[in-house]
Amino acid sequence: VAAQDDCIFCRIADGRLPADVVHVGTSVLALRDVAPQAPTHVLVIPKEHHDTVDALASADPKTLVELVAVAGEVARSHGDGQYRLVFNSGEQAGQSVRHVHGHVLAGRSFAWPPG
Ligand code: AMP
Repeated sequence: VAAQDDCIFCRIADGRLPADVVHVGTSVLALRDVAPQAPTHVLVIPKEHHDTVDALASADPKTLVELVAVAGEVARSHGDGQYRLVFNSGEQAGQSVRHVHGHVLAGRSFAWPPG
């Protein structure tokens, strides 16, 4: 999917917006969340625009596999390898940026069920 001018993660992916990038992969980037909710809070995004995780799964499954692998690598390199991987999909689920991103949350205990 073509880059979208009004999409902040497209702008980060093509270098127009600065970000604290912790990993650059073949088709994904990992960057620190600006409003961290845990000691480690990293977002893993595809460089190309896709709205949601299921849209990415359909259009480019290889990149989704890379995204999940990088999430695990980030959790291992930034902590002990225990982490929560969250994809908010849709406004009601808490998605505020319509460019798929996996939240890698680690470094503390998490409650279940989520709020
Ligand atoms: P979601 O609410 O699941 O769509 O998550 C969007 C996340 O992106 C939130 O946790 C925001 O804090 C984060 N965020 C928004 N803008 C930026 C930015 N420019 N750089 C890094 N993280 C951002």
